[in-house]
Amino acid sequence: MKLKVTTNILTANEKIAEGNEKIFADAGVFVLNLMSSPGAGKTSLLEQTIIRLKDRVKVGVIEGDIAGADDAMRIDALGVPVVQINTGGACHLDANMINEVLGDLPIADLDILVIENVGNLVCPAEFKLGEHMKVAVLSITEGHDKPLKYPVMFQESKALIINKIDLKPFLDVDVEKIRRDAISLNPEITIFEVSCKTGEGLDAWVAWIETLIS
Ligand code: MG
Ligand code: ZN
Repeated sequence: MKLKVTTNILTANEKIAEGNEKIFADAGVFVLNLMSSPGAGKTSLLEQTIIRLKDRVKVGVIEGDIAGADDAMRIDALGVPVVQINTGGACHLDANMINEVLGDLPIADLDILVIENVGNLVCPAEFKLGEHMKVAVLSITEGHDKPLKYPVMFQESKALIINKIDLKPFLDVDVEKIRRDAISLNPEITIFEVSCKTGEGLDAWVAWIETLIS
């Protein structure tokens, strides 16, 4: 019975996601759904990406959090249009939450809209928002066992950003295992190793994003 209810919720969400997809297509905006556990560095990655892109590409952001507007304030400081969604407890964004805030962003003027999902390795991967692609961020501080423990996140993502790579000398983490397991779950996945602290790997990631939206 529980499985049936969950299936119905996902089906209802999918219909609204299809509506969002059409709105994004009409606006000519590429939409990226950024997912990770809390503290993996989604907002830091977004800041560093915006800094590198914003002279050439018009970026907009939707921030998803259970509470607070800290992330939206960080993005706002970069002079980029941003809307904060507070889910009030829900551990993921759904298509309806996105639909409700689209009127608050100049989406027809944007080249790319990044949706930063609520920090959670589980259900954000299951709820379509109408995005063109999902990207997973995994900090090496989370350990190398995460892809096999949370497979859906890695199966659904077009790219995996392995973040905080500057901390590698201080950790007993097998980054090669993260790569190997992610590829075993999703042979098509594109992997970037980055540090938002030192800037390592960020230019390659930003160049890849630009190829997708040009
Ligand atoms: Mg954040
Ligand atoms: Zn959830």
